[in-house]
Amino acid sequence: YVNLIWFRNDLRTLENPAVSAACQNNTFKVIAIYIATPNQWRSHHMAPKQAAFIYHNLISLKNELVHFDIKLYTHQSSTFLNAALYFIKFCLKHDVKNVFYNYEYMLNECERDNLVKKHLHRKKIFMYGFHGSMLLSPHVVKNKKNKTYQVYSPFKKCVLKHLKQLNLASPMLLKKNIKYKKMLTIRPFCYPMEEFDQTIFPIGEKRALYRLKIFCTNKIIRYGLHRNFPYLTSTSLLSPYLSIGVLSPIQCLKYILKKVPNVFSLSKKCTWLNEIIWREFYYYLIASYPILSKNQSIKKWTEKIPWKNNNIYLEAWKKGNTGFPIIDAGMRQLNTLGWMHNRLRMITASFLVKNLFIDWRLGHNYFMSKLIDGNFASNNGNWQWISSTGYNSTPYFRIFNPEIQSKKFDCLGKFILQYIPELKKIPISEIHNPHAWIIKNKVNFNYPAPIINYKLSRKNNLSVFIKTYNIH
Ligand code: FAD
Repeated sequence: YVNLIWFRNDLRTLENPAVSAACQNNTFKVIAIYIATPNQWRSHHMAPKQAAFIYHNLISLKNELVHFDIKLYTHQSSTFLNAALYFIKFCLKHDVKNVFYNYEYMLNECERDNLVKKHLHRKKIFMYGFHGSMLLSPHVVKNKKNKTYQVYSPFKKCVLKHLKQLNLASPMLLKKNIKYKKMLTIRPFCYPMEEFDQTIFPIGEKRALYRLKIFCTNKIIRYGLHRNFPYLTSTSLLSPYLSIGVLSPIQCLKYILKKVPNVFSLSKKCTWLNEIIWREFYYYLIASYPILSKNQSIKKWTEKIPWKNNNIYLEAWKKGNTGFPIIDAGMRQLNTLGWMHNRLRMITASFLVKNLFIDWRLGHNYFMSKLIDGNFASNNGNWQWISSTGYNSTPYFRIFNPEIQSKKFDCLGKFILQYIPELKKIPISEIHNPHAWIIKNKVNFNYPAPIINYKLSRKNNLSVFIKTYNIH
């Protein structure tokens, strides 16, 4: 008999409940499969950098699995439906008895899994699912009325309560004495793949774990103080690994506990754990509310907002040519690295929606098309939070002022200059709003004038928000 591991967004061998469960019984042969779905990726706007990141990590996984005597098969099907049909055939061909996998929570993914499960069940092949991409099963986190949370703070409290009681011991996988001949590889995906900076995002779970360890040893304590300043590398840069499952949040928790053993007592606050729980919250919402997978706004009245969707503004925002340095530097970071600092994601997203008055979904899709760490749950959750259209969102009147944010979090313009070197000759005090200085000094700079008047856009768009709210 054969046990099959179905890898999807969990490209790791360690702390992977599906892998551990598949390997528990020594009498079973264990094999694994990964099915790429390029058309499905296209419809979800997956970034070519992320496709390349998956590809390289998959090769690394394939080679790591050799040590456990597990052969990884790979295949490409255009859509989830085709992948499901191929998967069923594969199980029959390879005499599979049990399938082990970690859940994915979006609607299309759940439908795919249900289809496969139903068919395999008829053939007496059984599927075992695990919550390997979350800290907890979303089904256990319920309020006193046994209802799902919609607001972050009580959710977090409940998660912490469960985490305190969690048994964090996990079965060790034993490496076998396999003679390792040559580096195995995989056929490239039929999807555009764009190389990424491997010095910033090194490949493979060993390197990801090493980054986690170094971050928790050196940076976690001061994370709360430093995390909002984009010119410092004070955040973990682990999001790409968490998004495709090269790392799991449980691994993060274990390292946090090594550094801050009493992290669960409220007095010992750990800001980084808070961020891991934000991630959990957005996965939890996706798992609990299928409507979120349809890209609809949660607050129904906000669907009536008459967005302007001006294409010239949208293109200027995408390219980092709005004339607002902090916005442009953020967007250029995204376009270059495939990653953007969290503070800048908030400022640029707020600017698109609240000042350019462009539908949040256009920004959401653009982020997905560029992010190496793109994941639907976090991207959708954060965009809806910023746009005031989702659960637990900011009040509708909160609009980030780019100049104030810039002065506060990039006071010396260090980050701005990294991405907009054309502003180097401007006095630092003027860098957050250089246009007035440029006009006054009659100099010719290769940097655009602001595409909108911030104050006016704020006033006008706010009144449209209020009007839409009042008539809904
Ligand atoms: P750290 O600060 O080191 O945080 C550790 C981990 O916690 C991150 O790797 C991430 O997994 C999680 N995390 C941190 N902040 C958040 C948050 N606000 N929401 C959810 N999880 C969080 N994150 C993604 O992983 N994928 C996305 O597609 C994504 N889209 C976003 C879109 C917008 C508009 C905004 C405002 C935020 C988005 N984020 C997204 C969240 C956040 O910006 C990134 O997770 C973070 O910048 C990644 O850098 P890091 O790994 O150094 O984070």
